[in-house]
Amino acid sequence: MSFRALFLEKSDAGFSASVRELSDTDLAAHASEGNVTVRIAWSTVNYKDGLAITNRSPVVRKWPMVPGIDGAGVVESSDDPRFAPGSAVILNGWGVGETHWGCLGGKARLKADWLIALPDGLSARQSMAIGTAGYTAMLAALAIERGGVRPDDGEILVTGAAGGVGSVAIAILAGWGYRVVASTGRPEEAGYLTGLGAAEIIDRASLSAAGKPLQKERWAGVVDAVGSHTLANACAQTRSRGVVAACGLAQGMDFPATVAPFILRGVTLAGIDSVMCPRALRETAWQRLATDLDRSKLDAMTREIALADALPAAAAVLAGQIRGRLVVDVTR
Ligand code: NDP
Repeated sequence: MSFRALFLEKSDAGFSASVRELSDTDLAAHASEGNVTVRIAWSTVNYKDGLAITNRSPVVRKWPMVPGIDGAGVVESSDDPRFAPGSAVILNGWGVGETHWGCLGGKARLKADWLIALPDGLSARQSMAIGTAGYTAMLAALAIERGGVRPDDGEILVTGAAGGVGSVAIAILAGWGYRVVASTGRPEEAGYLTGLGAAEIIDRASLSAAGKPLQKERWAGVVDAVGSHTLANACAQTRSRGVVAACGLAQGMDFPATVAPFILRGVTLAGIDSVMCPRALRETAWQRLATDLDRSKLDAMTREIALADALPAAAAVLAGQIRGRLVVDVTR
């Protein structure tokens, strides 16, 4: 049976991204390492999807490609006993949408090892409103919790606050009782950010230039979606024994810092990798999202779009113009 999907191609004429009608035969030819066919209902446009769909950086490493690093749907057929037909599943990462055909389309052929059951209490649409960005925010929040930082220990800084990772991180951490300070370049989003639970808004320009190796101690924990000088300054401002979760590079991949915060204040720099995150930690993160994330806040940060809208949305994500999260109805 045929289905619609985003389709990325490279040829002598250059790069192109379009909506195509594809078939099970195409899936069998291009996603042969999969052993579970999933009828995808919802997907999303993450920062990495934006890079893939615009061909802005070499995210896609096999051509042609169906993008989409996240998907939620129902198993149609399966060669693996863990996922019977009819099971509701979600997929995040594992190189899907990069080296393996992804979920911005009506069907995907995926490996059972990559799938997890849709957690109780979350709809497929809600799981994609969360998506990799929200699940990464939970991994970062869990790293802060695991590092022993408690709400009484002080404030949490969230950078890239109005983006996907930042928005979900604010909602989670405020919900857990932390005082959250949101760093943004969009002061006009102050009302949105306080609605998610931010207690204070700061201008991201205060963190984005080169700073001293050790600065006045302020943060008990940090969720950083931005990297570069912002991450270096966040570390330099973190209190003794605090935890900084590094999850993004919206400002840059560089890390122009010194070891001073780590060896003089015992600061922990926790790396967050959602793509190859082991199953047990994934499942914990999704369980906590299902129980702890305020649904009204999730709704407030989510905008729904149709499949073809993901093409222009990709550029808007990279331009920092999207607030919160996009959820894609792939059937529309
Ligand atoms: P979004 O595009 O939704 O948000 C990024 C935010 O970063 C923007 O909204 C903006 O926030 C801020 N920002 C953008 N450009 C700059 C800049 N030049 N300097 C400072 N801040 C900037 O992306 P996501 O939230 O989905 O992802 C954020 C980052 O996390 C990306 O780099 C992404 O690649 C990474 N990521 C990593 C994962 C992992 O596994 N480690 C998984 C998912 C994402 P504001 O407007 O509020 O200033």
